[in-house]
Amino acid sequence: MKIVITGCAGFIGANFSQYYLTHYPTYNIVGIDCLTYAANTVALSKLKANDHFTFYQTDICNRAEIRNIFQKEKPDIVVNFAAESHVDRSIENPDIFIKTNVLGTQILLDACLNNGIKRFHQISTDEVYGDLPLESKETFIETSPLKPSSPYSASKAAADLLTLSYYKTYQLPVTISRSSNNYGKYQHTEKLIPKAIFSAINKQAFPLYGNGLNVREWLHVDDHSRAIDCILHRGTIGEIYNIGSGCFMANAELVKVIFQKINVSKSLVQFVEDRKGHDKKYALDCSKLQNQLGWKPQENFDKQLEKLILWYQNEFAV
Ligand code: NAD
Repeated sequence: MKIVITGCAGFIGANFSQYYLTHYPTYNIVGIDCLTYAANTVALSKLKANDHFTFYQTDICNRAEIRNIFQKEKPDIVVNFAAESHVDRSIENPDIFIKTNVLGTQILLDACLNNGIKRFHQISTDEVYGDLPLESKETFIETSPLKPSSPYSASKAAADLLTLSYYKTYQLPVTISRSSNNYGKYQHTEKLIPKAIFSAINKQAFPLYGNGLNVREWLHVDDHSRAIDCILHRGTIGEIYNIGSGCFMANAELVKVIFQKINVSKSLVQFVEDRKGHDKKYALDCSKLQNQLGWKPQENFDKQLEKLILWYQNEFAV
């Protein structure tokens, strides 16, 4: 079994690659990543130390190089994590988001089509559904309308639609997963949890958007890896699967908990002008993944957050 993992040096791609190398020691992983600012070279070095891991520093938008890699490696499965992933950056400069997230996905889909791939799995996000009012009890199901708010989520929704079009038009065997916010090792410090931990450790002011009441659903990255694993082994071709944890928290509450755990005054939290188009709340219905494929989240948020704080304390100290 040979699996191409794009974005293998990013937060979730690196964790997933490590998960696969650990749980499927006979599989060969072919990692592709162009190493943007978001790539984690420490995580990548650990992957490279494994004989079953081969790395290509390549842009998924480079059609010729992607074609050459696919012809040489002849992968069975492709999992596409490569993306521009930060909403704030997409508001400042959408161009690269459209290029990587939409064109890059299409180039991978073409390469899959031309090489008889058994599965293309697209990593998507709950943000494609848009948001819910804070007081809403509604949850998004896989057939909920797509109403992305930011250039980031619009580019991810476009990639989902392209992926589904390759299934319908060319019968390319695809699956898609849409997960909620992830937390875990190797996440870039621009993202909420590592940024709050970094600020608390360094006793720096932490800028929190708006009134901080926006709600996110926090999924541990290992639970995400297990869910993708379930979908790759037991998922139905052409289907979309939501992946959420049921662990909801307002951003201000989450930052308060982090500051308390690190024993730092929450007066360092400064409320700043809200993000443009800031989504209020995401909430996923994951009964399809749970009932059909038997996945359920295993990680306890509080316990994992404590472990993560210790891990980042160590990382930031280096
Ligand atoms: P990340 O920003 O940490 O990593 C992205 C990786 O992709 C980086 O290593 C980067 O170098 C690489 N990359 C970017 N552009 C590339 C290109 N053109 N060619 C090759 N490599 C490229 O992102 P992440 O948080 O690990 O997210 C991974 C995927 O999961 C993304 O598709 C994202 O949309 C999705 N997702 C993330 C979350 C989350 O909470 N982080 C939640 C839901 C979905």
